Amino acid sequence: MDDCIFCKIANHVIESDYVYEDEYVTAFKDAEPQAPVHVLIVPKQHYVNFSDDIPGEVLAAIGHAIKEVAAKTGIDKDGYRVISNAGDNADQVVKHLHVHVLGGEFLGTGLLPEK
Ligand code: AMP
Ligand code: ZN
Repeated sequence: MDDCIFCKIANHVIESDYVYEDEYVTAFKDAEPQAPVHVLIVPKQHYVNFSDDIPGEVLAAIGHAIKEVAAKTGIDKDGYRVISNAGDNADQVVKHLHVHVLGGEFLGTGLLPEK
C-alpha cells in the first residue's frame, strides 16, 4: 500500500531501528515504547489485522520472529507479552497487521490496561 507507514518501514522505504528480518516479516523498535523492550513485528505484505486472510507461511514467520526477537533482546528468560490489536474495540491505530512484543520488566497481572 502506497500510503502505509508500516509497508514503508517493513520494506526499507523508510529506515527504522530494526531488530530482526526475514523473507516475510520485519521487526523494529516501537517509536513510543511502553516497556523497556517494545518491538513491533510486521509482515512485508500489507494485511490490516488477523481478520485478513494471511498465508500460512506469513503466520509461521510471525511466530518464529517472536522467538527471535525475544532471544535477541534478552527478554526470553524473564518473560514477555505478545499483543496484536485488531479493529476499533482494540484501538488499532496503524491499519497494517503488527504484533507488539513487550518485556524487560514485570508487566502487571492484568491482561487489559485500566479502562
Ligand atoms: P496499535 O495501537 O496497535 O495500532 O499500535 C501502533 C504502534 O505503532 C504504537 O505503539 C506506535 O507507537 C507505533 N508506531 C507508530 N508509528 C511508528 C513508527 N513510524 N515507527 C515505530 N513505531 C511506530
Ligand atoms: Zn501496510
